[in-house]
Amino acid sequence: MRVLVVEDEASLRDGIVDLLRGDGHDVVAVGDGIAGVEAGLRDPFDLVVLDLMLPRLDGMEVCRRLRAARPGTPILMLTARGSEDDKVRGLMEGADDYVTKPFSARELLARVRVLGRRAPGGESLDEVQLEGATIDLARMVVVRGEGRVALTPREVGIVRWLYRHQDRVVSRAELLEQVFGQRGDLQTRAVDMAIAVLRKKVEPDPQRPTVIISVKGAGYAWRLAR
Ligand code: CA
Repeated sequence: MRVLVVEDEASLRDGIVDLLRGDGHDVVAVGDGIAGVEAGLRDPFDLVVLDLMLPRLDGMEVCRRLRAARPGTPILMLTARGSEDDKVRGLMEGADDYVTKPFSARELLARVRVLGRRAPGGESLDEVQLEGATIDLARMVVVRGEGRVALTPREVGIVRWLYRHQDRVVSRAELLEQVFGQRGDLQTRAVDMAIAVLRKKVEPDPQRPTVIISVKGAGYAWRLAR
């Protein structure tokens, strides 16, 4: 994959670059937010590894600008320990995943590989028809009449997983592991947050979901609105 790394701390940046190159990736690294946006807009990347606290332009704003220009590129956010609000905000801004500093090489590579699998062209299910709307998974967009709403790679992953397993209920832990590439019951709130945002994009009435159904005490299930 071609990976863009945006991190101002030189020793950490060099470490990430070495790690990713060692894993066979083609890496471009920059040290501030403005340079990150410039690099990200100049060339297409398969993944962006983005620090949250950056000089000149913070990671959240870099995320917004890259997401707006290249909605299909997965973004992995690097956050400081304990900044739970930042993580949640990062996901809301369109980051696909986050790693909390300090992280291990193994942890970072695991997230990179999961996001890489969801990069454009990684899977085959292209389109899901709903009543009054089409989820175009290949183009990562929900089309409803004249309206189009972009989906993040993670949202596409959630749709694919629920749709493929529509014969049963999918637990939060399963979504966390299969789509987010994480383990542990403590993170399931991130799943609920992601589903809430996704519903606003795919449900005719997000307050009364008919596409992604909550099953109390069990998880989520896909039900086609007929
Ligand atoms: Ca930083």
